[in-house]
Amino acid sequence: MSYAIEAENSHLNFQTRFSNFRRRFKLSSQISLTYALILFVTLIVTNVGTTAGVYYVFHHQAERALDISIERTTQKVRELNAIDENFYRLGTVMPSVVFRVVDESGKVITDTNPYIPNTEKFLKYVRNDPPFWASNEYKLVETPHSFFYYKDLPLEVGGKIFHFQFFKTITFEKDFIRYLLWTIFFVDVIGLGLAMAAGYLLSRRILKPLKHVTETAREISAGNLDKRLDVEKSGDEVSKLSKSFNKMLDRLEESFTRQQRFIADASHELRTPITVIRGYAEMLELYGAEDKELLEESAASIKNSAQNMQYLVESMLFLARADQETQPLNKSPVEIRELINSVVKRFKNPRVKFICEKEFETSGDPELLKKLFAIFLDNALKYSNDEVKIEMAVENQTATVKFIDKGIGISFEDRQKIFDRFFRVDKSRTKFDDEKISAGLGLSIAKWIADKHEIKISVDSELDKGTTFELTVTQNFSS
Ligand code: ATP
Ligand code: MG
Repeated sequence: MSYAIEAENSHLNFQTRFSNFRRRFKLSSQISLTYALILFVTLIVTNVGTTAGVYYVFHHQAERALDISIERTTQKVRELNAIDENFYRLGTVMPSVVFRVVDESGKVITDTNPYIPNTEKFLKYVRNDPPFWASNEYKLVETPHSFFYYKDLPLEVGGKIFHFQFFKTITFEKDFIRYLLWTIFFVDVIGLGLAMAAGYLLSRRILKPLKHVTETAREISAGNLDKRLDVEKSGDEVSKLSKSFNKMLDRLEESFTRQQRFIADASHELRTPITVIRGYAEMLELYGAEDKELLEESAASIKNSAQNMQYLVESMLFLARADQETQPLNKSPVEIRELINSVVKRFKNPRVKFICEKEFETSGDPELLKKLFAIFLDNALKYSNDEVKIEMAVENQTATVKFIDKGIGISFEDRQKIFDRFFRVDKSRTKFDDEKISAGLGLSIAKWIADKHEIKISVDSELDKGTTFELTVTQNFSS
């Protein structure tokens, strides 16, 4: 239980320490420090491994040379059962091994290297704590100037005891290892320093564009959404980030401008009916009670303006709900001919002629579809004086509904914009019905409804000849 808590605590400790480290250092320092740490650990492991390996090999070789020499000498002594000053010439010892034979009185019988001092002189230097990999068959002697293996082997020759002494120096090997260690140390320190500096400079260079992104993001506000980041052509992660950031700004700017335009247009549109209402109200205040004709005219105009305002507000609310995806869409099986018939009836306009031979069933929101047809019929009536034809034809799984008028028509350039919110073709030459508002919202609502029902809209028009809007409805019973 307590172990579990301790483990948990140490885990938390590590987490806090790590997040402190991240908070304290910049990303560039974090990267360079992390890489330096990795490099440091790798260097330590490889260097310690290499040195230990070299160390072991040197010791092992020395021990092998002694083993072989001792074995051969012992054998030879047993064969000969005699010893004299020329014994060393028999070559029983390896060339790197020093060999000496001393009798019991301490007299040297034979010696391969007379410069090696007497045994008593160096025995005090025997190491009591030889390295764990050194064989305990031998003594390790470490004087201030040399380092060697030593073995004293007493053998009986001709009834007398002789001391066979073997020496194998590893002084040079020790020196070599010391130099090797120092070299490795200096190279490591320099390498580590260079790696840290290079890592720091490189990460700073890599992260510099990020700094620019942060600064630009800080500078951007609703007032200057037109600012953009410079995108380098390198195609690396940062330039991709800058590109996405710029694209996000494009979208933000576009939606912000659209919203602003929408608000400006809406306030502008609302100002007209409000001015009318106010004007009539002021006139009524002055002369209303006496002038019956003015009273009637004012009431009619105020009612009309109020209706226009209502239409405006409702249309804007519809589009706002559509934008927020909160406009309800209640699809059910519907019959198109019947829907159009009910719209035509509601308009009660003798100029409308609806021609349709077949019914067409599909799935859709009946109220929204009626709204859609009403928008096109309303336009056809509003922008023409003559007969307006609605032709519906059914073929296989498709119905085409055409709204045909012989009115003012729409120019080619304007045809691209009529579905934009608040767009109206030059007011002076449009509209035959001045009573009705022309806000420029009808077709944007129609477009949204059509999209939700997968209905295709196409326009064919010629200026001063007329316009035909064609709706293609495909049978679809999915909800
Ligand atoms: P609202 O429908 O909101 O009352 P509106 O009729 O002006 O106003 P839309 O229905 O969106 O707005 O139409 C946009 C513009 O397209 C109109 O202002 C008009 O200039 C042009 N337009 C649309 N239908 C026709 C048509 N049948 N003939 C000529 N012009 C048309
Ligand atoms: Mg309209």
